[in-house]
Amino acid sequence: MTNEQKKYVYSFTEGDGKARQLLGGKGANLCEMTQIGLNVPPGYTITTEACLSYLENDNTYPDGLMQEVREQMIALEKLTGKGFGDAHNPLLVSVRSGSAMSMPGMMDTILNLGMNSDTLQGEIEQTGDERFAYDAYRRFIQLFGKVALGIDDEYFDEPFEAIKKREGVKEDVGLSTDNLKEIATLFLEVVHAQTGRAFPEDPYEQLDLAIKAVLGSWSGKRAVDYRREFNITPDQANGTAVNICTMVFGNRGDDCATGVAFTRNPGTGENVFYGEYLVNAQGEDVVAGIRTPKPIAQMADEMPDLYRQLEELRSKLENHYSEIQDFEFTIEKGILYCLQTRNGKMNTQAMVRTSVELVEEGLITKDQALMRIAPESLEQMLFPRLDPNANVSALATGLPASPGAACGHVVFDADRAVALKKTSDKPLILLREETKPEDIHGFFVSEAILTSRGGKTSHAAVVARGMGKPCVAGADGIEVDVMARRAHIGEVVIKEGDIITLDGTSGNVYLGAVATVEAEFSDELKTLLSWADERAQLKVMANADIPEDAERALKYGAMGIGLCRTERMFNAADRLPIVLEMIVSDTLEQRQDALDKLLPIQRQDFIELFSTMSPRPVTVRLLDPPIHEFLPSENQLIDDLVQLKHLKDTMRGSEVLTATLSLLSGQNGTMTSIQQLADSSLVDEAIEKKEAILKKVRALFEVNPMLGHRGVRLGITFPEIYAMQIRAVLEAACECQKAGIEVHPEIMIPQVCTSEELRNIKVHVENIRLAVEEEQGIAPVFKFGSMMEVVRACMRAEQLAEEAEFFSFGTNDLTQATFSFSREDAENKFLPMYNEAGILQDNPFEVLDANGVGKIMELAVNWGRGVKPGMKIGICGEHGGHPASIGFCHSIGLTYVSCSGPRVPIARLAAAQAALQETA
Ligand code: ADP
Ligand code: MG
Ligand code: MG
Repeated sequence: MTNEQKKYVYSFTEGDGKARQLLGGKGANLCEMTQIGLNVPPGYTITTEACLSYLENDNTYPDGLMQEVREQMIALEKLTGKGFGDAHNPLLVSVRSGSAMSMPGMMDTILNLGMNSDTLQGEIEQTGDERFAYDAYRRFIQLFGKVALGIDDEYFDEPFEAIKKREGVKEDVGLSTDNLKEIATLFLEVVHAQTGRAFPEDPYEQLDLAIKAVLGSWSGKRAVDYRREFNITPDQANGTAVNICTMVFGNRGDDCATGVAFTRNPGTGENVFYGEYLVNAQGEDVVAGIRTPKPIAQMADEMPDLYRQLEELRSKLENHYSEIQDFEFTIEKGILYCLQTRNGKMNTQAMVRTSVELVEEGLITKDQALMRIAPESLEQMLFPRLDPNANVSALATGLPASPGAACGHVVFDADRAVALKKTSDKPLILLREETKPEDIHGFFVSEAILTSRGGKTSHAAVVARGMGKPCVAGADGIEVDVMARRAHIGEVVIKEGDIITLDGTSGNVYLGAVATVEAEFSDELKTLLSWADERAQLKVMANADIPEDAERALKYGAMGIGLCRTERMFNAADRLPIVLEMIVSDTLEQRQDALDKLLPIQRQDFIELFSTMSPRPVTVRLLDPPIHEFLPSENQLIDDLVQLKHLKDTMRGSEVLTATLSLLSGQNGTMTSIQQLADSSLVDEAIEKKEAILKKVRALFEVNPMLGHRGVRLGITFPEIYAMQIRAVLEAACECQKAGIEVHPEIMIPQVCTSEELRNIKVHVENIRLAVEEEQGIAPVFKFGSMMEVVRACMRAEQLAEEAEFFSFGTNDLTQATFSFSREDAENKFLPMYNEAGILQDNPFEVLDANGVGKIMELAVNWGRGVKPGMKIGICGEHGGHPASIGFCHSIGLTYVSCSGPRVPIARLAAAQAALQETA
């Protein structure tokens, strides 16, 4: 070994606990725990650099690696007083993978390495426990056979289950020493038959094969798929480390145990010790769901002294890491060992609760609490729950392993789930006896997971929690028959495709679809978001068109309404006929008539909105879409007319009448009954109305309606429409003010290109203001502003700022205009390919294009504020609820973002994080 040779191996006493990239998360934490004095069995870690070098060089070790490994083995022998391969006092180790990012169950661990026919005797000699030694032996042969030699599990499971059946035992612990001997012999034969050679006896050869298997697993299909699905990039985790750790045994009798625990409940975040253990078992048994483990609290009775030690370990871990820990432990002959720790994966509800409580306990700061949660994940808290009034009784009950309620069609295996998802979009629930890492693709396409075996820390539970999907585990009343695509629950048979509902919060499973209700805000979330608001510089508004939306937005903590689309108010069933009347009118008088009917309706809408939101601002956008959007399509009208004429010409059988009822009572607003229809003059009238609408539809035809007669263009050519809306806003403001309700309405003009357009509308605003003020005897409070969704408007921001008191970027239209993409065509035709080819990183309609669209926004902000310092400038539209886009909005100094109500909490947190990241 030369001096420059790279170091590839670190003992747990020397590795840097912070070096997660180099040592992997598991390795780094094993080092850290060792160095802070926790009882970790001695061992060492082979670095991820060794892994990368191995994979890059055609699966050959880097120079010196095995030399280092041998030195470490010798050191371990010294430390433990045992010998690797020693026939009297053998040293056994585990070989464990572990990369910088936790990838639960994605790569396999080999236990009891070093066992062979000699060391087996040594193990018996040392422990005086023949049964234990054979148990360890048969486990090793199977795991090594599977992981290092690539033999399918079923070759081992079959003879194993056969013997269990023959002996009439349910659990492994029921097997006798002779049974285990027989099994070991059978397993050795399996290896011989499957590999064509005898089981490797030389411990160093075993070690070599095991290390290679772990290193190779990094580029295996399972791991590659997992990284792709979770977007794990090389800068997050590159290569796996290999941890070699002295074996400790939880399966040496009733003073031995093994378990997995969380320092707090990862489902709720409650500060209670949470976990499971099995007496007389090896670690993997808990995770694999082979036996259903006991809740950790039971240990307080069963092994009180050890339980106290475990509690101590719990608090040491949490205090050291200032974070909820998920850890593995084993008790061998009354001695507690810690085998792994990592930050606990929790659902968002638990993340939020622990964030707040860790601050209250002084373990972290408020800022740390805010940075701890991914804004996007808050969506999980808006998970539906089962309707508490749904009076249903559970068909089966299991462990509440990951909260939330879901309803879907049962599917019994992952491949089938993926196949079904390809042909239909129906929600699926994956029902399995237990899940394994190779089922992962089934998780992705399912709404929820249900298993009949395993505990809260089983594979299914851990993975479902990570994905935020509901999971019920260990519902042992369910008997799954995968081959027949059926399950039995008592008398009930569930076939593939049958609908069930499960509640991961209670663990209940129901037959059929059970109603669900929206989630409520927890107090902790309110607290956390109030801290977010203290930190954030951006205000978060909601898009809301009707009072119900506004009320919901308030619940989500909206600081106002950033976009009220008045056209949505027109769409209600009682209004559309009047809107139609307005559109088809040929004269100003006719149009004014219709508008006069709309005015009180709009005014009432605004009064409700303003008072709901008082004293917060409400930005009202005047009519934006091309008016033909309110009309039926030309084809629809032609069809209707054909049918009406047919009706007129034929006998009026009641069938025909019923079929045409809807045509007549539709958008022309005529209320019809069968009797009335008998009167042919009504049919004539209907035909006349439809023809008038058809004529209008043809007259309004535009080649490119989104770039056509809409927004402010409409407001200028039909001033009476905007006049009605402006009047409705101002009258509503006056009425509220008179009632002592503080209001801040803002009138916002869409599609503006030039300052002249704004000036034109402003003249009307001014006239109406004067009139309203005189009529009402009170001056309405309001602001006047412009949408910024046209490139030219942004380029002329200085001139627009002279007229407008505020700007609001409409980034959907601005993105279309900047790219010259129409959204639908882009998303349906070429964007996916652009993304795949890396021509565009993201969909610019989802993630704001900071470099292009964002550049234009930045210019407009600076120009606008050059004229009006501190001018209120915001963004409305989908980007306003996207965390990365919010970060950008913060960086160019916007005043607010406005997004849909349910995204408001996400935006509040994202806004706080943007501010914190800047100061960091
Ligand atoms: P995973 O990443 O899948 O959790 P681990 O490497 O942690 O894999 O190991 C799988 C199981 O084996 C765990 O329950 C762990 O506690 C147990 N285990 C690993 N190494 C040892 C050891 N040296 N002694 C006893 N149990 C071990
Ligand atoms: Mg583990
Ligand atoms: Mg727009």
